Order: sequence, then structure tokens, then C-alpha cells
Amino acid sequence: MRFVPSHLQRSAATLDGRSAVRSMLLIFAAVMICVSAMVFTALDRVGHYANQLDENRSREAVSGALQTFREQLAATLHDYAAWDDAAENAYVQKDTSWLDRNFGEMSFDNLLFDVSLILDHTGRPISAYSDGERIQPALVDFVTPDVWTLFDRVRNMKADDRLEDTGFVSTTKGIAAVAIGVIRAKSGVRSVAREETRYAIFFRHLSPATVERLSKAYVLPGLTLMPPADQISHMVPIISPTESVIGGLSWVPRSPGDTSLAQVRPLVWCAVAMIAIYMLLLFVSGNQALARLSADEATAFRLAMTDRLSGLANRSGLFAGLSDLVVKAQSEGKDVALLYLDLDGFKEVNDAYGHATGDVLIRSVSAGLRVLAGEERVLARLGGDEFAIAFVGFDVHKTAAELSERVLDFLGEPLTMGERVAVIGCSIGLSVSRRGLVPSEELIRRADMAMYRSKDDGRGRWTLYDPSMDEEREERNLLELDLRAAIDAEEITVVYQPIADSRSFQIYGVEALARWTRKGHGPVSPDIFIPIAESTGLIDLLGLCVLKTACTTLKDWPGLALSVNVSPGQFRDPAFVSRVGKVLEETKIDPSRLTLELTETYFIQNPQRARKTLDLLRQTGVKIALDDFGSGFSSVGYLRQFGFDRIKLDKSLVDSVGENARAVEMLRATVALARSLDMPVTAEGVESEAQAIALRQAGCDLLQGFLFGKPMGAEDIAHLRRTGPLLQLSNIA
Ligand code: C2E
Ligand code: CA
Ligand code: CA
Repeated sequence: MRFVPSHLQRSAATLDGRSAVRSMLLIFAAVMICVSAMVFTALDRVGHYANQLDENRSREAVSGALQTFREQLAATLHDYAAWDDAAENAYVQKDTSWLDRNFGEMSFDNLLFDVSLILDHTGRPISAYSDGERIQPALVDFVTPDVWTLFDRVRNMKADDRLEDTGFVSTTKGIAAVAIGVIRAKSGVRSVAREETRYAIFFRHLSPATVERLSKAYVLPGLTLMPPADQISHMVPIISPTESVIGGLSWVPRSPGDTSLAQVRPLVWCAVAMIAIYMLLLFVSGNQALARLSADEATAFRLAMTDRLSGLANRSGLFAGLSDLVVKAQSEGKDVALLYLDLDGFKEVNDAYGHATGDVLIRSVSAGLRVLAGEERVLARLGGDEFAIAFVGFDVHKTAAELSERVLDFLGEPLTMGERVAVIGCSIGLSVSRRGLVPSEELIRRADMAMYRSKDDGRGRWTLYDPSMDEEREERNLLELDLRAAIDAEEITVVYQPIADSRSFQIYGVEALARWTRKGHGPVSPDIFIPIAESTGLIDLLGLCVLKTACTTLKDWPGLALSVNVSPGQFRDPAFVSRVGKVLEETKIDPSRLTLELTETYFIQNPQRARKTLDLLRQTGVKIALDDFGSGFSSVGYLRQFGFDRIKLDKSLVDSVGENARAVEMLRATVALARSLDMPVTAEGVESEAQAIALRQAGCDLLQGFLFGKPMGAEDIAHLRRTGPLLQLSNIA
């Protein structure tokens, strides 16, 4: 079958696997992105924090440097101002030159101060030096308003105050620390009047060299003095006594966090990339494994959907294929057609020639069907000898009918199986799903039902499903229910048809025939209820019931023989022989008076087992008659093989008597053949005297038919026994 149902193309499990791997990859990618984001954010935070720490430390260091710078100056000034010699020369000796030498000239190349002023209480300079040079007229360059503010503070201090103060100021030389103090004795006592007081003022400028020194001493790279206008973040402002920013010390931030980050980041990227590559490899190998797995799975699926013997789809395969066709039909507005085939004579071939030959037959039928069905059609073997062909299209009724005819033609031809040749034929059921509206299961059920109709109607034909079949099936089911109830309630009655001796026309025996009057419906023909009983297994009970009743009745008719019909189903039952024996025992009937009538179907179907059962039955002493001889296969081989005690010519053969001379010849030949095999012959369905005479002449020793009596109740048989021969010939031949 070329048509591959979508189920086979990719299994659900594989799809699941694929999507599982895919979603795992997606989840992994998301996790990777999240983890990377978190790691990098954390690294940034750490870096930022490290930067911040360094920034704070640098700021503290710069502030500390400035403070120390100022305090150093304050300490230097204190040494000079609170000095007994200075107080002596300033207040007592009033020696200005001493002050110049010991204060002013000391400002030359001094790391502690570079400008020295000595002012009187009004602020008038007494001594003024910058870098050791007298600077009398340029005093204003240094005594800025900020200095005056500081000077005022010291000037206004009380005698027991510190008498000194410091701060940062801006001069023409730049930004400087300034310290002001009252010149006094070391003991610290102001010994002169306020107006007489002298004040020493030292400046120490933040020259580039000084800043450089601070930079080295405090490990602050790039320390720079900034003008007040520049406001940058890495800067400590320098604030004057009047609280205004006069400048600042800035530094170059080392940003240790950034440096560490720069070192760590490539490593982290490397790690992320490695994990990503690892996962990618894992994904690729997982996908490959899945691909292998899905290939194996697809093979397993295909096997599960395929019939081993024929290589066609099996029942599951048909379901899968049909479901796809239904979907296709629904989407394309087409119809789905299903042909359900059952080979007619397959069981016989299988039984006669063995299973190996049966297998060869199935294979050659499959090959033929494959050619007939063509591509794009679902072709399946549903076990045993049943096949199905399904397809979609427009106007599928016509196509399906034509295909059915071709299949019937093909299977009507003799099939060669090695040495052997057999004609089998088939019965076809057809169902159509318009626009795919009928689901697969229902479609199969309908086709199956139509196929059974083909079989019932005589095989070798195709039948289109009709809704009335369902009604009939339902009616049949009701009939079955009622029949079961009737058997349980012992409502099955038995009638007896007389069998006459062909010489004397005296009653020789009777054939027991089952009758059923269905409650609320009236009598039902045995041709209807017997097949139902056979197909439902009710025949065992029914047959036994007829046998018991007939044998019991026979006790009232000494000397009469009894024929009872046995269905193949009963004969197949292993307990059948013992059941018959039990009835004979219970009714105390001489077994030789009982003849069991069997049709040839069972002998053809199962010759070996039939033979065994037959032998067992013979041991009980009953006789076996082959019923309906001449209506079916009627092989002489069977007659010889089984050696029946009697054969009954079918009514169809009897009917042909009188039609033409050849028919009579055939009848004579058949009877002669049976007699040559030591089998006496009963003719049944005898309706006319002419038939009776012809049959007697042909060699039939017993005659049965409406001419001698219809099937009747037991009382009527009793009456018949008392009144002479069953027939008085009007014109003796
Ligand atoms: P069968 O065994 O061939 O029985 C003979 C049938 O032919 C009977 O039909 C009988 O009424 C009919 N018949 C006899 N003589 C004539 C005649 O001259 N003309 C016509 N037209 N018909 C005649 P019946 O009773 O309707 O039975 C039909 C079939 O049902 C039987 O065919 C037999 O196969 C089956 N059957 C009946 N009772 C039983 C039973 O108890 N067990 C089994 N297994 N089958 C039974
Ligand atoms: Ca019969
Ligand atoms: Ca018969």
C-alpha cells in the first residue's frame, strides 16, 4: 500500500519528544539569559560598590590631607606666637628688626609657611614678608576680606581664649591655609593692653609642589587644585571662613571596581559561552537520538499497522487510513467509499489444501487487489479472508461500483496456487460517507453489513449499504430474542412429514420438522428461524429439543422410522454424540430407527473431524443421511469417502423430472451411482404421481413430499398409520 496514513508519517510520541527537547532548549535559553543578567548585574553592583568605597576613601583622604595641612600651619604659628622672646621683642623692646629676622625672613624656602605678617591691633602691618622678601606695599594681596574676618575673630577673643584661629583663604599667590595668633608669652598670658597687641599671621600656599607632595604622601593619584567654578564629583571643596567655596582639591578616581570588572567580565563571558555551547551540543545529540528513536518508532508503528502475511494494512492500518481519508474528504468536499470484501470459498480451500496453500492464496489475492485498487487508495486485510479498499473522490458511487465489478471479475477467475487451481469468488459490501460525514467505524460497520447481505443473497456480488439493512438487523435481533425465549418456554413444536415406501406407498417413517409460532406475529418459517438459531448458537438447544420430542412421540408409533435434521453447528459440538446417546437411552428407542439428516456443508468444511464424529455416531447405532443431495457441490468423492447410510435427493432435482428427458437421465444416473455405493435413496419434495413413478423407476426406495402428506401433528400421523397406503395411483404405470 503506497498510501501512508499520517499517523505513520510521524508518531505522536516523537512529536512529544521533539517539542519536549525544543521547550527544554527554550527554558534553558531563558534560564541562561536570566542567570547571565543576574551575574552581570551582580558584578556591576560589586564594581560600583568597590568604586564607591574607593571614592569615599579618597574623599576622606583628601579632606584629611587638607585638615592636616591646616593643622600643621596652626601648630607652627602657635610655636612662633606663644614665644617669650617674641613677646619681649614685640612689647617690651619693641624691636621690629628682631621680628623681621625671626618671623619674616623665616618665610624663605620654608616648608611650614611662605608668608609671614605681623599686624598691630588696627591691622596696620609692622612686618610683612613673602618667601623671605619684604612686601610692604602689596599687603592687600594677602589680607583679603576672608583674612579680615579671621583677624576680627582673634582680635575679639577674650584673654582666656585660645587666641589663635585658622582657615583657608584665596590670595594672589593662590589658595592657602592661614593661621592667626596673638603674640604672647609662652605662658599664654596677654600681658599688654588690647590696643598694644601684635598679631602674627602665617600663610602656607597650596603650590603645585605642595599639592604634589600631598598627592604622594596620601597616595592620591592626580591630586589637583581646582578653581572654585569647576564642580566635579571627585573633589573636596575648600571653604573659607565666610563659608564660600574658594576652590577644591580633585583627584583621578582609580575605580577599582571597573578595573576588576574589566578583568572578570571576559572570564564570565567565557563561562556563559561554554555552558551555552555545552547545552547546544547536548541539544544536537539529543535531537539526533530522538531522530533515531523516531525512525525506530516509525518502523514499529508501520509494523503494527501492517498485516504480516499480505503486506497490506491491517485493521488498525485501515482505521488510521480511513480517518485520514475522512479528514481529507471533509476539507476537500469529497466523498469516502469503502469496499468490504469477503472471499467466498477460502475456508474450503484452506481446509482442503492446508494453511500453506491458504497463505499462498491470500498473497496472490492481495497482489491482485493491489493492482486493481491502484495508488492513493487504502487497501487492507482485516484478518482471515476479509479485505477492504477505501478511497476518496467525487461521485464515488460509480467508481466504487466499477471497482467492485473488476474485483468480482478478478476473483471469479481460477487462481493458481503452485500446482493447484481454485475458484473462490467474493462478496462485497459497499458504504459511502458523503463529504466524510460518516465516521470511520460506522463506515466499516455499514460496509460489513452490506457484505453480509451480498452473502445472504447468494455471494459473488456487491451490495450498497441501505439504511433498511439496519432495520432488518434490528428486526433480526428482536427475532433472536423471541426465539431464545420460545426455546426456554418450550414453545418450539415438532411436526412430522410422512415418508412413504416407493413400492407399497405405505407409511415407512416420518421426518421431524421444527415449528415456531411467534407470540403476536404468527408462524415463522424454519427457513428464517433455523439460520438465526444456527448463527447464534441456539441451534444446540433447539435441535436437542426437537430430537427429544420426536423420540418420545416415536414410542407411540412402533415400526415407524424417524428422521431428524442436524445442523453443522450441532455436529461440530463435541458433546453432540453423547447427547444423542442420552436421548436414545432415556426414550428407549432402538437406535436403528433413527436417521440423522446432515447437509454436506460440514463435510466439505472439516472432513477429518466430520469423519470422527460420524464414526462415533455410527457406534451408537443411528443412521446418517446426506440431506439436500444435488443442491450444492454434491461431490461423488464425498459420498464414497463418508459412506452415508442414505442420501436424500434435493427437491430441485425432483422438480426437474418431467421437464425434459435429460433431467430424468441425470436423476437415474445419480440414483444408480448412490446405489452402486450401497446407499439407498430417498426423494423429497414429491408433489405429483408422475414424479413418484419416475423416482420409483429410477431406484428411489423412499419418497417424501406433499403428494404423501404435508408436515403434520402427531395425532394426524397416528390417524395415517391406521388408514392404508398413503397413495392410490390413479393410472398405474
Ligand atoms: P429439509 O430438511 O430439506 O426439510 C424438508 C423441507 O421441505 C420442509 O420444509 C418441508 O416442509 C418441505 N417439503 C417437504 N415436501 C415438500 C413438497 O412436496 N413441496 C414443497 N414445496 N416442500 C416440501 P420446512 O419444514 O419449512 O423446513 C425447512 C428446513 O428447515 C428443513 O429443510 C431443514 O433444513 C430445516 N429444519 C426444519 N426443522 C429443523 C430442525 O428441527 N433442525 C434442523 N437442524 N433443521 C430443521
Ligand atoms: Ca431434512
Ligand atoms: Ca431436504
